[in-house]
Amino acid sequence: MTADLDAYWMPYTANRQFKKAPRLLTKASGMHFWNDEGRQILDGVAGLWCVNAGHARPRIVQAIAEQAAEMDYAPPFQMGHPKAFELARRVADLAPGDMNKVFFTNSGSEAVETALKMALAYHRVRGEGQRTRLIGRERGYHGVNFGGMSVGGIVGNRKMFGTMLSGVDHIRHTHDLGANAFSVGQPAHGAELADDLERLCALHDPSTIAAVIVEPVAGSTGVLIPPQGYLQRLREICDRHGILLIFDEVITGFGRTGNPFAAQTFGVTPDLMSCAKGLTNGAVPMGAVIARQHVYDAFMQGPEQAIEFAHGYTYSAHPLACAAGLATLDTYEEEGLLTRAGELQSYFAESLHSLKDAPHVIDVRNIGLVGGIELTPRPGAPTARAFDVFLDCYAAGVMVRTTGDTVALSPPLIISREQIDQIVSTLRNAISRVA
Ligand code: PMP
Repeated sequence: MTADLDAYWMPYTANRQFKKAPRLLTKASGMHFWNDEGRQILDGVAGLWCVNAGHARPRIVQAIAEQAAEMDYAPPFQMGHPKAFELARRVADLAPGDMNKVFFTNSGSEAVETALKMALAYHRVRGEGQRTRLIGRERGYHGVNFGGMSVGGIVGNRKMFGTMLSGVDHIRHTHDLGANAFSVGQPAHGAELADDLERLCALHDPSTIAAVIVEPVAGSTGVLIPPQGYLQRLREICDRHGILLIFDEVITGFGRTGNPFAAQTFGVTPDLMSCAKGLTNGAVPMGAVIARQHVYDAFMQGPEQAIEFAHGYTYSAHPLACAAGLATLDTYEEEGLLTRAGELQSYFAESLHSLKDAPHVIDVRNIGLVGGIELTPRPGAPTARAFDVFLDCYAAGVMVRTTGDTVALSPPLIISREQIDQIVSTLRNAISRVA
């Protein structure tokens, strides 16, 4: 075991600290994990915002096993297999409006890179190759690859690497503790922050801008809910200037906000949407880009034998992922999970906002079944207060997630009201102890 701990260079983890007191998970089922000591842990984050139907659902497990035995792999270039087409259709059916073309990747990061490349190529095939500029947002998280990192707005992720894509600019984030603290659902103030995009259009000349990418709800930087009217305003500005709007729905896709996609919850249809995580219930890595009809059509103009979009992965539409995806969508649909977050939203909100008076809590925010509790920063301390809350909750048998000073919750959509209560009371105790 010691040798194993030594060899594994863990991702996004304080390796040296972790290896002194490892947290090892060995089993998962439904709403729970079990650790290597056999202790049960209630999952308050759906693994990593992905296990929306709960863990190890027999139907999904069986679909993966059967697919592995039937056809383990099929090349995705100039070849296809039926489940890839079926899953694409099923995903397109869930997406809003004419978002009905689906391109498969293996992760959220790859979905983001694919969407950015699609946007650049879209303008080229239409004879607008001068549109090369990409616009992201401060505090955006779009995965770890160069495109996503460049349009992302996490300073810590950027400063470690130096090199970024050129021709990228950012609009401001929407987090405003002054005007919007303790908002239930969408905050009232801040729609005008979308006008930053208009300012960048004035600065750069809008005909040089290919796309703007935002998470409808920014998850990894602390659960930031879009102000009322903000996404509508971004859409209007994009339309005015021929800029593609990309929603990164890697976290919000597949039911998190009470609809299949947050685009539906907020009533704004982007041109491209990246998704992953809940697509396969986290069981097999898979991501996708969902494109509107006009984007696809633009690529389909050249000679019929030409490859229209020179992009793809060895494991695009992997048979195991497609089988998992189909069984996942069956599960979501049969159990009504894609709308369950909407049904539980007010119970979840009320429960979460009861933490308002706990020590050091400076904000509580929520939408659907995702929430954030922000604690006062502890300047100069080696770990944020939120991280200590995470450790305390884990010791008490509840898994939450921490991002900076915020504790984030995004439980599986099968959660019961009692389990919501358990998470919140564990959090309350943890916050008091850490204080
Ligand atoms: N985009 C968003 C909005 C995300 O939240 C994440 C992951 N949390 C990613 C992209 C990257 O996904 P992955 O880790 O699957 O590459």
